[in-house]
Amino acid sequence: MGALSSKLRNSTDGGILWWCPGCDEAHRISSGGSSGPQWRWNQDVDKPTFTPSVLVRGIRQDMNAEDLAAYDAERKRIQDSSILNDPRFGTVCHVFITDGNIQFLGDCTHSLKNQTVPIPDWPRRPEEFYIQD
Ligand SMILES: [Zn+2]
Repeated sequence: MGALSSKLRNSTDGGILWWCPGCDEAHRISSGGSSGPQWRWNQDVDKPTFTPSVLVRGIRQDMNAEDLAAYDAERKRIQDSSILNDPRFGTVCHVFITDGNIQFLGDCTHSLKNQTVPIPDWPRRPEEFYIQD
């Protein structure tokens, strides 16, 4: 993974990553890659614009024991990612990245929903956490 700017990192397979302050983790799109969905990028590493919007679904990291047991049971029954549509189990981060700003849409499940904030500087050295490259 390389540094494109203080805000963006890239991966060898055409990925572009930024740090999401709503999820406190990196998110990734692919632009100019050879497979999977591709986003348009204005090629600006300091004030990037990506289109269309980016939707990231994840697994809640704060499930209580009851929800965790329900999740394990449901996962045996529903063996695909639609299980994450259940708000007890899944998270949503849905953003527009425009001119270096992150616009969090109303379907986000974290505290920055409906807010617009600048993309933060990348908070950690790349080797301090694991990203599959
Ligand atoms: Zn996010």
